[in-house]
Amino acid sequence: MAVATKARTFSGIKPSGDIHLGNYLGAVKRWVDDQDRYDNIYCVVDLHAMTVPFEPDQLRRRQRELFTILFAAGLDPERSIVFIQSHVRAHTELCWILNCVTPLGWLERMTQYKDAVAKLKENDSIPTGLLDYPVLMTGDIILYDARYVPVGEDQKQHVELARNIAERFNRLFGETFVVPEPVIQEEGARIMGLDDPTTKMSKSDQFPNRAIALLDDPDTIRRKIRGATTDSLREIRFDPSRPGVYNLLTIHHVLSGEPIAQIEARYEGKGYGDLKRDLGDLVVESLRPVQERYRALSGDPAQVDALIERGAERARAIAEPVLERAKRAVGLV
Ligand code: ATP
Ligand code: MG
Repeated sequence: MAVATKARTFSGIKPSGDIHLGNYLGAVKRWVDDQDRYDNIYCVVDLHAMTVPFEPDQLRRRQRELFTILFAAGLDPERSIVFIQSHVRAHTELCWILNCVTPLGWLERMTQYKDAVAKLKENDSIPTGLLDYPVLMTGDIILYDARYVPVGEDQKQHVELARNIAERFNRLFGETFVVPEPVIQEEGARIMGLDDPTTKMSKSDQFPNRAIALLDDPDTIRRKIRGATTDSLREIRFDPSRPGVYNLLTIHHVLSGEPIAQIEARYEGKGYGDLKRDLGDLVVESLRPVQERYRALSGDPAQVDALIERGAERARAIAEPVLERAKRAVGLV
């Protein structure tokens, strides 16, 4: 009798700043909710956090903090492999092999690369790693034979590039890699900045009122939501042409799971102040258990160390044979 196996998923998150509500709603919450559906591998991609200017002490602190938050958010070490990218050497090794089959033009076309270059300060040089980031990311995914890559809208182009690179490799050297595909949910895939609803919430942005960090205290959360940019109209409706209100309503809808029509009906005749107050409470209450679990787990460094070690071991056990396959295919062994 054939044993039904679950499809493998892989996704990653960079320790490039404080993890925020956009990361949670667009990615991490779904990883958690879908844990029984897939064979799950999730990664703190610290090597990716080095592609823009960074500080060693900060990287060390953020890497561990983000790893801990993923468990606090609900990833379960019994059902998901969670690990830190740099602890598995196969990632950088495969990256080099893939570099040698990836046309430069494919990388220069990436919109995130162009945006990141535009954000560098005037005298900063462009790190080669910034251009190469999507190749490293391709390796992250295909090292685990992952079929599905659950990401927010902004990562779609990179996952499509990963498909192209895997297909090209298979064409040149024979069937070696599983060709992955992005999985993007409709709702919450792009949570926008509170101060500027035309820009997505990002970890690496320097604007203090743009994102709600998962570890923000209740007063800070409520203050940021109170100050969110809306518009001068009064009606509270899910209307994408009014990005500020639309963003607040989307956060409400995805966090509460309440139908859109019901939310709109509740705010009939009410003002933005009411919506913001309720949303503040909803976000605070939704994040409370995550924050409590974070405090408990981060207060037990030995347990965090053990989780880090166990995740890396399990990841290595999958990645190493796949790397070996690639090395054979290209003639290195
Ligand atoms: P950075 O600014 O350093 O790129 P980031 O906030 O974009 O940070 P990433 O680590 O690049 O976060 O992405 C982690 C995951 O979160 C990815 O799946 C990405 O698609 C998703 N994501 C990032 N920002 C948002 C957002 N504003 N809304 C929904 N999903 C998001
Ligand atoms: Mg990003």
